[in-house]
Amino acid sequence: MTFIGMTPEQLTGQVQTHLVEFAPNRLLHKQVVNDFNGLQQAAKNQGFTLHIASAFRSFERQLNIWNNKYSGVVPILDKNEVAIDMTKVTEQEKLYHLLHWSALPSASRHHWGTDIDVYDPTLLPKGQSLQLQKSEYLTGGYFSELTDWLSHNIHQYGFYRPYKQDQGGVAQEPWHISYAPLAVGFLSQLDLDLISDTLINHSVLGKSLILQELPTIYEQYICNISQD
Ligand SMILES: [Zn+2]
Repeated sequence: MTFIGMTPEQLTGQVQTHLVEFAPNRLLHKQVVNDFNGLQQAAKNQGFTLHIASAFRSFERQLNIWNNKYSGVVPILDKNEVAIDMTKVTEQEKLYHLLHWSALPSASRHHWGTDIDVYDPTLLPKGQSLQLQKSEYLTGGYFSELTDWLSHNIHQYGFYRPYKQDQGGVAQEPWHISYAPLAVGFLSQLDLDLISDTLINHSVLGKSLILQELPTIYEQYICNISQD
């Protein structure tokens, strides 16, 4: 497969010209479809129903998630998944708690169409809705067999887990898989200037603090990922 670069607007989720609709409201990068189909078929052969919980997410959608948390409309959690008391933390602490769980708009890997949150709806207990929490995916959780199967099979189709463990940046996300043949190149295209230029032109809450902290955020939350 030949690597094709992305435009700044594609990389930051502001256009959808790199995508195709894989399933209703589930958009993937055109060049991911083939191998994701292969992975899905392999899963099916082993009795799993591999579904997409989330694939492409636009800049606007990520901005909405970000601003709702920053403003307190949606609670920000600490590392133990307990809502933080906004009156007891500094602006800077709030920012870093948020970044543990949510990507900066313009810097979400979900903008690329290469990154997919997966689950198996047939393994959900009756009446239980998907939470995308570690307790569902790790040992003892109802998706733990799927997690093990993914660990042994995603590489064959070009996928890996950038959030395989908590490395002091983004939280562990066993459900998040990424298509390496494209995503590795896309990450190297996403530089500090592109992120700051994009943020400057939008109403992002916490903007001045974000811009001030951007070199740290870039290292600790964007580049600091598992390599396998
Ligand atoms: Zn994800």
